[in-house]
Amino acid sequence: MKITQITVFQVNLPLEHPYWLSGGRLKFEVLDATLVKIETDEGVTGWGEGTPWGHTYVPAHGPGIRAGIETMAPFILGLDPRRVLDVERAMDLALPGHLYAKSPIDMACWDIAGQAAGLPIADLMGGGSRTPKPIASSVGAKTVEETRTVMDRYRARGYVAHSVKIGGDVTRDIARIRDVEAHRPEHEIILYDVNRGWTRQEALRVMRATEDLHVMFEQPCETLDDIAAIRPLHSAPVSVDETLVTLQDGARIARDGLAEVFGIKLNRVGGLTKAARLRDIALAHGIDLFVMATGGSVLADTEALHLAATIPDHNIKAVWACQDMLTVDIAGGRGPRNIDGHLHLPDAPGLGVHPDLAALGSPVGIYT
Ligand code: MG
Repeated sequence: MKITQITVFQVNLPLEHPYWLSGGRLKFEVLDATLVKIETDEGVTGWGEGTPWGHTYVPAHGPGIRAGIETMAPFILGLDPRRVLDVERAMDLALPGHLYAKSPIDMACWDIAGQAAGLPIADLMGGGSRTPKPIASSVGAKTVEETRTVMDRYRARGYVAHSVKIGGDVTRDIARIRDVEAHRPEHEIILYDVNRGWTRQEALRVMRATEDLHVMFEQPCETLDDIAAIRPLHSAPVSVDETLVTLQDGARIARDGLAEVFGIKLNRVGGLTKAARLRDIALAHGIDLFVMATGGSVLADTEALHLAATIPDHNIKAVWACQDMLTVDIAGGRGPRNIDGHLHLPDAPGLGVHPDLAALGSPVGIYT
């Protein structure tokens, strides 16, 4: 089987509500999505998606994905898409770094490989758990009262996992954490996501002031060096997502004991092939996982769900469904959808969901 054509589409995915990153630092209203269709000489077609969470959140850029694919296309055409490692090496040779541009190609190749094998991607990767995966909410409220209201709204929809965005005013953050914990049902999974919002001393002030609650903080500071520096000075469990990018990052975090949870963002780390290695490092070191798309449509959510399904139920904390935050649905309601706050693995071969061509408009690039 050979890749014969790569077709690229650009779609704007408006958010239902403008989204403010922790501490109100950055505002997002529309996501720039790149959808990639890979066709083969055997008639099997695969789809991939790359949707950064804006271009100010982490080093990833919607137009950069399209430019990266243009650069890599000549090196990918003619390869067998089922041999995902060959495609990965070709991309890494053609364009070092730029993992976010490689992820949609990797995803489309896994989609084709799954369809060719007659298996969902998770099963092709070695076996997928059918346990429905809890979707983490995204609680961006500012005050104690608003936080309580937003979380209760999510709970009414079945959510048992929450990502509470903090990282602004330290005193208010402490008050919000104390209030959330006071009202928390015992079975719930709660991460306090700082999104790199604190300096080292701000992080230590909140982590020490809430030490009795033993709550988990995600990405408390900007860099792994910051997280390492404060590590001996507090006792809170830590999750790392924005600074978990390469396999070397994963190895360092595991070896130096910098985190108890890996938050794997599929587009950020370069797709399923690279993410599976991070998963294995985590599991080998007693580190739990939280898997999510960086952003995007139901296709991106489904990719994350396949990886999550390859993780033992005991070790996967939650997934995320960006689809719930969008006003546009490019797959006409198909694919895994939020059912009572959970996503269910599709049983169709490959990814298990493809977009409606009519929703994508004209291609912005065709490579043959
Ligand atoms: Mg996060």
